[in-house]
Order: sequence, then C-alpha cells, then structure tokens
Amino acid sequence: MQTLQTDIKYLKGVGPIRGKMLGEDLKIFTLRDLLYHFPYKYIDRSVVHRIADLTEGMPHVLLKGQIVAKNVEGSGRRERLVALFSDGSGVVELVWFNSIKVMDKRLLYNHTYTLLGKPSAFNGRLNIPHPEIEDAPTAGDAPLTMLPHYHTSERMKKHGFTSRSMGELVERAFALLGQVPVEETLPDYLIRRYNLQDLNTALRTIHKPLNAAALPEASRRLKFEELFYLQLDILRTTTRRKQQNQGYPFPRVGKHFLDFYHNYLPFELTEAQKRVVKEIRADLATGKQMNRLLQGDVGSGKTMVALLCCLLAADNSYQACIMAPTEILAEQHCASLQAYLKDMPVEVRLLTGTVKGKARREVLEGVAAGKVDILVGTHALIEPNVRFLNLGLVVIDEQHRFGVKQRALLWEKNLRPPHILVMTATPIPRTLAMTVYGDLDVSVIDQLPPGRKPVQTLHYRQNDRAKLLQGIRYQLGLGRQVYVVYPLIKENEKQNLRDLETGYGRMIEALPEYRVGMVHGKMKPADKENAMQAFKRGETQVLVSTTVIEVGVNVPNASVMVIENADRFGLAQLHQLRGRVGRGAEQSYCILMTNNNLSDTTRRRMQIMVETTDGFVIAEEDLKLRGPGDLDGTAQSGMPFDLKIAHIVRDQALMEVAREAAGDVLEQDPEEALPQNQVVWKQLRMLKKGQVNLSEIS
Ligand code: ADP
Ligand code: MG
Repeated sequence: MQTLQTDIKYLKGVGPIRGKMLGEDLKIFTLRDLLYHFPYKYIDRSVVHRIADLTEGMPHVLLKGQIVAKNVEGSGRRERLVALFSDGSGVVELVWFNSIKVMDKRLLYNHTYTLLGKPSAFNGRLNIPHPEIEDAPTAGDAPLTMLPHYHTSERMKKHGFTSRSMGELVERAFALLGQVPVEETLPDYLIRRYNLQDLNTALRTIHKPLNAAALPEASRRLKFEELFYLQLDILRTTTRRKQQNQGYPFPRVGKHFLDFYHNYLPFELTEAQKRVVKEIRADLATGKQMNRLLQGDVGSGKTMVALLCCLLAADNSYQACIMAPTEILAEQHCASLQAYLKDMPVEVRLLTGTVKGKARREVLEGVAAGKVDILVGTHALIEPNVRFLNLGLVVIDEQHRFGVKQRALLWEKNLRPPHILVMTATPIPRTLAMTVYGDLDVSVIDQLPPGRKPVQTLHYRQNDRAKLLQGIRYQLGLGRQVYVVYPLIKENEKQNLRDLETGYGRMIEALPEYRVGMVHGKMKPADKENAMQAFKRGETQVLVSTTVIEVGVNVPNASVMVIENADRFGLAQLHQLRGRVGRGAEQSYCILMTNNNLSDTTRRRMQIMVETTDGFVIAEEDLKLRGPGDLDGTAQSGMPFDLKIAHIVRDQALMEVAREAAGDVLEQDPEEALPQNQVVWKQLRMLKKGQVNLSEIS
C-alpha cells in the first residue's frame, strides 16, 4: 500500500532526471511533498470574457472567437506575428515574438478558437502577447472549468517540465493512493470546533476543484493546518524558554530613574513611550529573563526608552550596555546619553574598534570594576575580553544587523543571562512579529513626538530632472543639506560605482557654488568616516551615497532625500531612507526618482510612499505586494516553517484563530500526552524532522 511517505520516484513519469529536479528545485521528495505543492492560481474556464470588456491589467482571461487577419511584421530581432481576433463584440490584437512560423501556419481563418491570455497595453492599444490558443471545445467535451497552475523552476521549464506536467503528476499521485483517504493531520475536536474540511477532501479539491466556489473551504482548511502548526511550534518554544530562563529581577525603581525622570528629562514622554516603559518595567520585575522587541518608527524616540531602562538597571546595581550596528551610531548614542546624564552620577563610556591603547584599557578596567554603568559600543562589546562586573541589561539597536548567534554570546556575559531589549525601526506587521519574532515579546511605540512635520514625498521621473535640481538649489539656498542615494545592484558592482560617480559628477556640475561629498561601501572605513563627518558638520552640503547611510544617521539640517532608481528599493527600505530627513523643525522632502515608463506594481509602490508616512501601513502593503516568499533574510531565518498556502498578512485573521487553537492545545496538554492530541504531536515531530530551530538558541 502506498502512503504519503512514498518516495516520489515510484510515481510513473518521474525518472531520475525529473526526480532530481523536483527534489533540488522544489524540495519535493515524497507524495506528501507533491500534494502539498499547491497550485498558485487557477484559470476559470467557465467564464468567457467579451473583447469589448477587456482592460489593461486584467488577470488572465478566456476569449472565444475567430482570427480575422494576420501578418508577420518587422524583421530580424523585431520580427513578430500580429493577428486580429474577433468575437463579435470587438477586436483585439494578438502578438507572438517567437515560434512565429509555427503559429502562422497553425492559425486558421473561419475556425473558432478559445484563447487564454493576459491583456496588456502597448502604445495605448490593448494586445495580448503569446496567448494560449486552442480549438474551442465541441458540445461533447467534458469541461474542466478550473485549470490549476503550478510553480516550476526555470530549469524545469527548459526541460518541458511545465505546470501542466505537474498537474499530471498530482493526478497520478492520487491514483496511486487509490481510494485510501489521506490520513488526517488535525484532531477531530479541532476540525469540529473550527468547522474545517477534512484533509482528504481539501487536498483533492485544492488540486482539482469542481468550480471556483469549491476553493475557499479547501484553502481555509489547508491554511489553518499550516498556521496552526506554525503557531504551535512557536508557542511551545516560547513557553519552554520562559520556564527555563531565570533572569535577574529588577524590583526597584530607584533614585537614578526617578531623579532623571523628574529633573532632567528634556521633554515630556509621548503616551506610547510611557506605555512601553511601563511594559518593560513590569517585565524586569518578574525574575524571568526579558527578551523584548521594541518596535518604533524612525524618530519615535527609542533611545530615550533605552536610557530609562539603563537607569532601572543602575537602580538595581546592574550594569547595562547598548550595542549599535555602526561606529557612527555608537558614538552618536554615547554622546547623547552623556549629554542627558551629565549632571548625574552615572558613568557612560564608549567602546568601538577605534578606541585603542590606553583609552581602551581604561574602559575595559572600568567595566570590569563596575565603575562604568552604561557601556555603549559596536559589536566590539561581544568580544570575550570585555568583562562586566555585573551585566544586567543589553540593549541592541537596529537588530537586523545582529545575528541570533551574536545575541547568544551576550548571554554569557554574566552568570544568568542579562535582560535583552532589541530595538528596531523596521516596522514589522503584527502577524509577522507574532510569527518570526514569536519567541520575543513585542512592545510598540506607535506615535511620534509632537511637532514633527511629516516628510513630503514626491515621485519624479527622468523627465523631471530639471525640476529636481531647481528644488535642490532652492533648499540649499535656505541653508539646508541634501542626500542623494543610489541602490546597490548585487550582481553588478561596477555598475554601482558608475551610477554613483555619474550622480556625483552631475551634482558637482549643477551646483558649482556648493560642496558635494560621496560615500560608498568600497571606500576605506576612515575615508567613509571622514565624508560622513564632513556632512554632519555641514562642510559638505550634498552627500551622494549608496545605502551606507540607511541606518540611524542623524543630521537634522538635512531636508531633502533624493532616492535614485527608487523602484529598485523595497518599500521598507525607502521608508528607512526617508526617515533620514524630517528630523529638524523644517519641512522636509523625499524625492523618488524613477524611469519614465513604469509597471503597474512599481507605480503602485511609489504611490504608497507618496500617500503615507506610516511605517506599519507601508510594511503591510510591502508584504502584500511581495508575498511571503520574499521576506528579507532575517525574517526568513526566523520562520520555523515555510508557508505554502497561507499568507502572513492577508491571512492575519485566520492566523489569530490558529494561534488561539494552538494556545489551547498547549495549555490543556502540556505533557503532550492526551490521546486525542497524538495526531498533533506526531505531525509536529514530522514537520520538524531535520530542522534546527533557531529560536531555541536565541
Ligand atoms: P529613534 O526611535 O529613531 O531611535 P531617537 O531616539 O533618535 O529616535 O529620537 C529622535 C529624536 O526625537 C531625538 O532628537 C529625541 O531627542 C527626540 N525625542 C524623543 N522623544 C521625544 C519626546 N517625547 N518629545 C520630543 N522629542 C523627543
Ligand atoms: Mg535610533
């Protein structure tokens, strides 16, 4: 008898070559893997569109009609076959750029075809490039209304291993399994409580739905299963960690905290800052080790929260450290902390790679003797020769630059692991935080300090360059400064430098009366540092750079951020960059430069940036546009399992239901022993086989 564990190579039609491609490209090794490789879309063949109703940007449409004219146009590489297709309601142009001869021969006049394709616009006229075209079914044919489409790799496509072949394999897999139903992966009581379809029906339906109406129920069941096991794994890990990790209790709110709060705080905290400080204080008092993620948009005032936490540590006779991703940022933090605390008996010191010799020895000795209360630095802090007398709190700024392993090293700086506060300005939608950072508790500063003017964002195209220069000159005339940022193209370092130098040259030429600086990743650290400092001090007025300025640099006098080739950046990154301006009281501007001709998605992405400055909205939109497959590296490595069918943003509501269900199971069955849950624990073990769960060592 065959089971889902059966090796894919026993399937007819999968030889060694296809088997290898399935394994290497799609991670399909067993029948189970194949059946969980879901179609990513369906073409509904029951709905025939009218040509008169077509518009640009429609998804694939089905048409029925006849060829009324055809002609091979152009020559050489521009040769193409153009045909006119009519259904009585209108006429649309079909275009083929290859297989021209074959298609030309195949297309007959006075013959009814069905045609599947995606309308697009070229020079203002609708056409359908490379449609799938076949004879219209005659009355006797059984209609397959919903045609599933499967992802395959480029390599597979080259070998003629297409979506259609995947569909055939799935059909054979079901045939091989025969009438035996696929074994259920959720316990009965959950299926009933959440009104779910059984797995067997859901799997068969998702691959071969009778009609469009059959899909939602099947997909809900499969998404629930996926999200349930994801949340179960995360919650189980979190519960275990909380039981195991004893931390240092900070029961006292003492003289440092109160003195600073009442006498030295330079501004009133925002409500959001107050709430977050309260959450952290409660955490620190429990005696469990805190692992908290502090999210707050650029400029929301995370540093002040960090400082208050450090003072709590000092009140309880513990040292604290703040770790920043770059030297510039560490220096900036250290300088502002020292300024805030200058009249208080709290010792703040800096430790980076450039603190050397005697100065370094002094800092290290002070830290070891407990004379330094707050140590600010880069990852130099992690080095083994940095020994604290009694480290109680670690604040990590801009966490995405620090790996899980580096966090783990900090744990060893004291007998019990110190409390950890990870701060990030990368807005993380709630669902993602719940999933990727499920092992961290999350606090959010969702409010900016009063009196900030939102940055005004404009989308310019190449044609607007004169207008751009005019705007820049105007702002420079007011005494402001300007950033011009270029994206890095991973594969093409030469191109990067060329783009940057072109931009630099252009600025020098256009602005002879101002000084222009340049920074990029290939420069020596010292030169980079000098160029940044010159801009900070206002000695250069324009800074042309790659994304090295992305994180945390603070130049309040800069009021213009020009982002070249803005379409090459992710939305979250554009938002980060935009956060570099708008730090002073002046109205600031962010100019997104793109080509003149844009795809729909790009136009939509730029539009979002123009419309909102809310980082959370942007992050949600970004995820919606990108899909869960393209999260950045940190997010990916944080996910215990890949999501195959559920979408981390679009399925937020179901994710919460699944999380509640998983929480119930854990609470009622902490020993993992109840008979009705055997199917749950077995399935979880199966899913986790061979996986290293990073959250367990974080
Ligand atoms: P980020 O969250 O991006 O790290 P910072 O901590 O650097 O933000 O704060 C940005 C600026 O806002 C700083 O100049 C800081 O002094 C100021 N700031 C922080 N909190 C407040 C507040 N409650 N009221 C007014 N200004 C504030
Ligand atoms: Mg900051």
